[in-house]
Amino acid sequence: MQNIQPRSIQVHPSDNVAIVVNEGGLPAGTVFESGLVLKEGVPEAHKVALTAIPKGAAVIRYGVVIGRAVREIPAGSWVHEGILTLPQAPALDQLPSPREDQQFLPPLEGFTFEGYVNDDGTVGTKNILGISTTVQCVSATVEYAVKKIKAELLPYYSNVDDVIAITHPYGCGIAIDAPGAEIPIRTLRNLSLNPNLGGAPMVVSLGCEKLQPSRMLPSDTLPVLTTQSYVVRLQDEEHRGFGDMVQAIMSMAEERLRKLNQRRRVTRPASDLIVGLQCGGSDAFSGVTANPAVGYAADLLVRAGATVMFSEVTEVRDAVDLLTSRAASKEIADGLAREMEWYDRYLQQGAVDRSANPSPGNKSGGLTNIVEKALGSIVKSGTSPIRGVFGPGERVTTKGLVFAATPASDFVCGTLQLAASMNMHVFTTGRGTPYGLAMVPVIKVASRTALAERWFDLIDVDAGTIATGKATIQEVGEEIFRLILDVASGRKQTCADRWGLHNEFALFNPAPIT
Ligand code: CA
Repeated sequence: MQNIQPRSIQVHPSDNVAIVVNEGGLPAGTVFESGLVLKEGVPEAHKVALTAIPKGAAVIRYGVVIGRAVREIPAGSWVHEGILTLPQAPALDQLPSPREDQQFLPPLEGFTFEGYVNDDGTVGTKNILGISTTVQCVSATVEYAVKKIKAELLPYYSNVDDVIAITHPYGCGIAIDAPGAEIPIRTLRNLSLNPNLGGAPMVVSLGCEKLQPSRMLPSDTLPVLTTQSYVVRLQDEEHRGFGDMVQAIMSMAEERLRKLNQRRRVTRPASDLIVGLQCGGSDAFSGVTANPAVGYAADLLVRAGATVMFSEVTEVRDAVDLLTSRAASKEIADGLAREMEWYDRYLQQGAVDRSANPSPGNKSGGLTNIVEKALGSIVKSGTSPIRGVFGPGERVTTKGLVFAATPASDFVCGTLQLAASMNMHVFTTGRGTPYGLAMVPVIKVASRTALAERWFDLIDVDAGTIATGKATIQEVGEEIFRLILDVASGRKQTCADRWGLHNEFALFNPAPIT
């Protein structure tokens, strides 16, 4: 222990706390190079007071007040949840206006990837047959059929990467015309139209359900390819027994596989990428290592013309005043406030607020409260102006950096980002999660080297090297950018894809069920 160099990271010059870098934390009596002596043991990633903080005074990290001291905090103390109050979230009617002097970084030319071009102009990073369902009642049947398709048909269509069943608990027993019901409905619609599904949607319906195929996927949203027949309805009289139903699904699937199989990757500009950013299982390092590196990559992507979306409303809410000034227009700033307001009301209905967000693991990882978590989370968005705001499950139609409003819950957010047209996903984690999605490749970035080493076959990028001084934010950011292009092209595989770790879809349904 005595040979270990004590290390801490102070993010902003005005911060009066820093986080402890050393694995396993540091004991009482540790002396830092600055002369600061630890009054008590401070766990790894947790905060230490750099100066004495009087009772009622602001505790500052990222240059922002993350709380106030409930008692005097001597220099060298462990600053944790129990001795901080939670500040009010920024008032939504007093948010800063967009800055006039916003810097557009110079465009980056010449970056490409190899993708599958769809009729609607979108580009896939995988070539997948997706089989949508209107209702939970058909899920088991579709999953049975998909198992058979994978075993008996897919081997003959070697240019098709996968066959996936888009199953969910929605579709019946629901208040389908309630405000908010459009969210799960458009999510299911837009999932079927994700660029990685090749514009070849097919739908399996039961027949008597509330969410009819024509409502889920109206004909004007269907690609040319499938306007003829795209629905297998299990209650149709032509199906005699289970075998007939499975056969009908397999026949339509084979038609689709034949078409998908003719497609080849072609060179496309990086501007065809739609990259969704998310974090899950964050710790106090996330905001200084993984998320800034992803933010750097986000800026490179935006400069190369791509769409980059960030999400997770409860992890944006407390820092929204830092984002409205980055909106490209007044309408976009208003859009951000509108999505925050909608979510405030949604949480109120459940008798909670955004403070319900941090998990026990976030807290053991040094994140005291939602303010600190949000400040670390929005760093993923980089520095570009925000060019668009989209509601949950809406398709993103703007290039550049956009905000796609979603809950922060990992699978709900991932599902909504897929509906928004995401074709690449970057996911940062500090505590560690084996998260993966079948529809798009997920690049996982660890905030700590200890995690990246322990989970050597689950983590794609180690951003912990930024904390230990072995690499810069710029270097790791460039590594992530290059890896996105390689994975999008099928040249490299993510850890999650190597193991086939594909979590289930999780719909966001804020409307009543009946
Ligand atoms: Ca999340």
